[in-house]
Amino acid sequence: MPTLDLSAPTVGWPPGHHLGGRLADCEGVTTGDLVHLGSGKVRDVYLLPDTEHLLLVASDRISAYDAVLPTPIPDKGRVLTALSAWWFGVLAERLGGSVPHHFVSADDRRIPAAWRGRAMLCRRLSMVPVECVARGYLAGSGLADYRATGAVCGVPLQPGLVGGDRLPEPIFTPATKAARGGHDENIPYPAVADAVGADTAARLRAATLAVYRLGAEVAESRGILLADTKLEFGFDRTGALTLGDEVLTPDSSRFWPADRWRPGAAQPSYDKQYVRDWLVSPNSGWDRASGAPPLPDDVVARTRDRYVEAYQRLTGLRFDDWPKGDDA
Ligand code: ATP
Ligand code: MG
Repeated sequence: MPTLDLSAPTVGWPPGHHLGGRLADCEGVTTGDLVHLGSGKVRDVYLLPDTEHLLLVASDRISAYDAVLPTPIPDKGRVLTALSAWWFGVLAERLGGSVPHHFVSADDRRIPAAWRGRAMLCRRLSMVPVECVARGYLAGSGLADYRATGAVCGVPLQPGLVGGDRLPEPIFTPATKAARGGHDENIPYPAVADAVGADTAARLRAATLAVYRLGAEVAESRGILLADTKLEFGFDRTGALTLGDEVLTPDSSRFWPADRWRPGAAQPSYDKQYVRDWLVSPNSGWDRASGAPPLPDDVVARTRDRYVEAYQRLTGLRFDDWPKGDDA
């Protein structure tokens, strides 16, 4: 059974780091008065001089099949940031204090002009190294688990389900947060309880399912199915368990157009479908062993349109009205 390594470093957080820890422990470079704490496949994380706040800067990088592609998708970082900011507002309004979150602002003078529109100012948290996944439909590693064991993360499901099926109830299917380059691994709930304590585990599960349920309800009212989503939580300086990271974006969630949902077939995904289709087509000539090839212009343009469409359909807002930085 995979176990949870609580000392595994997450971006920006050295092993054993606690709030108020020594900044000298952070690897990285200084950008003006911002300290670069680290970069993931898509985002760059900076610490503000007050050491209480972070900037999460979403780039236009896109990853598929665990590789970062050499061609960026214009405006993708702005879409991810705009959508997270919108969802944090919805969560605050609908869930109130029951699920506190880290988002402060996407429009703050502490955000460098170049990054306007794709940076979020957040309260710094001490992250819980668990990928908190909720699933309402069977797909991805959940489907693989089910086919192998009849259960997902130890949650038994009825026999005979096919890929894309809706589950009777949304389920909490946590995963380890893999170190860079690694694969997240599904873990049973008791392993989370062992690692973080029964009380924190129960609160992670309840908060994850609450966010999933609300996200699924809002998305469905706009013709989009939320198949699953991944959340990250941390403790703020007062010790309150707080929702961090990005939330309910196409990078952290599977969104399916409701009118094209066909259980048993591959579901068209809302975001990377064109990229994935092209990468596996003979046109790309990609063997998956070497670095991924540059994307053709039409694949880039159609993918950008899908991200923008996801934002506009979910929020009902015009993407053109979202702030744009000097470098966009
Ligand atoms: P990848 O997404 O490429 O697998 P990653 O999740 O480590 O890697 P990013 O998502 O690009 O990298 O970077 C965001 C990082 O910031 C994550 O490690 C996440 O845990 C961390 N993080 C998010 N919100 C906060 C917060 N409020 N305080 C501290 N760390 C945070
Ligand atoms: Mg991440």
